[in-house]
Amino acid sequence: MIQDIFPNRLNTDYQILSPKANDFLLVYNDSKVLLNRTNLQLPTVANIEEAYSIGNEQYIYLFAIDEMRFFLSQDKLPETNHLYYHDIRSLRSHKPKWLCFAAATGMHLSHWYENNQFCGKCGSLTVAKEDERAVCCTACDSIIYPRINPVVIVGITDGERLLLGKNMNSVYKHYGLISGFIEIAETVEEAVKRETMEEVGLKVKNIRYYKSQPWAFSESMLMGFFAEVDGNTTPYLDGKELTEAVWVNREELPLGDSHVSLTWEMIESFRLHRV
Ligand SMILES: [Zn+2]
Repeated sequence: MIQDIFPNRLNTDYQILSPKANDFLLVYNDSKVLLNRTNLQLPTVANIEEAYSIGNEQYIYLFAIDEMRFFLSQDKLPETNHLYYHDIRSLRSHKPKWLCFAAATGMHLSHWYENNQFCGKCGSLTVAKEDERAVCCTACDSIIYPRINPVVIVGITDGERLLLGKNMNSVYKHYGLISGFIEIAETVEEAVKRETMEEVGLKVKNIRYYKSQPWAFSESMLMGFFAEVDGNTTPYLDGKELTEAVWVNREELPLGDSHVSLTWEMIESFRLHRV
C-alpha cells in the first residue's frame, strides 16, 4: 500500500527546523506537486532558490523519511523550463516508492495549513504552535489540529462471493468496495452497517477489522472491514453513489492494477483466500 515504504521509514515527529540546501521542498498547486522535468524527482531547497532567484524564505518543516527532510513552501510558484506541476495520483507507480507517499502526505498538510491561516471562530490570524503540529489563534487562543476524516471500507462477503461496486463520482471507473465517511456520534461498526444499507440496501453481520490506511487524497484515515451479508443478498442501488453492484466469485475477481490502495489489497486478500 502507499504507506508501505519499507526499508525507508517516515518520521512525523513535530519540530521547528531551518531548511538546508539539500532538503526537499514540496510546492503544491491544488493536487499537483512541483517536480524536476528531467528526472521527475522532487526539487531541493537549492533547486528552488536557484530557479526563482530567492533565498531565506519561510519554509515549514513537515516530516523526514530516513535522513531525508521535507519542507513546505506555501508560495504557488510558477512553472519553469526545469520545474513543472505533476498530478500526485499519477505518481502511484513512480520510483522511489516513498515519493508518492511523501508528496501525498505533504499535500494533506499543505491543504490544512492553507485552510487554517485564519481562526474559524473569530477570524484572526493563526500562528504555528511551538510544541506540536497545530496552529493557534493570535486573538482567542483557539487551537486547530490537522484534520483527518475517518472513512470505512467494507468488503461484503457471501460465502465465496465478494460484492464489488462502481462509484459514480470516483476518478477511477473500475470496481471498488463500499465506503463512506463516519458521521458524528456514530461508532465505526455503525458506520459499516449504515454505509452498506445506504449504498446497496443490504444488512451485514460478523464485522471483522482488516487494516487501516492513511489516504491523503481525501485527507482521510481509511479503516477496512470484512462483513458477511445478513439475509437478503440482492443489492438495491439508490442511484446516488453507485452505478453498479455485483457479486463476484473469488476466483473471478479482477486483478488490481495498483498495489497502492487498501481497497485493492482487500480484494486481493479475498481472492487469495487470506481472509
Ligand atoms: Zn480566534
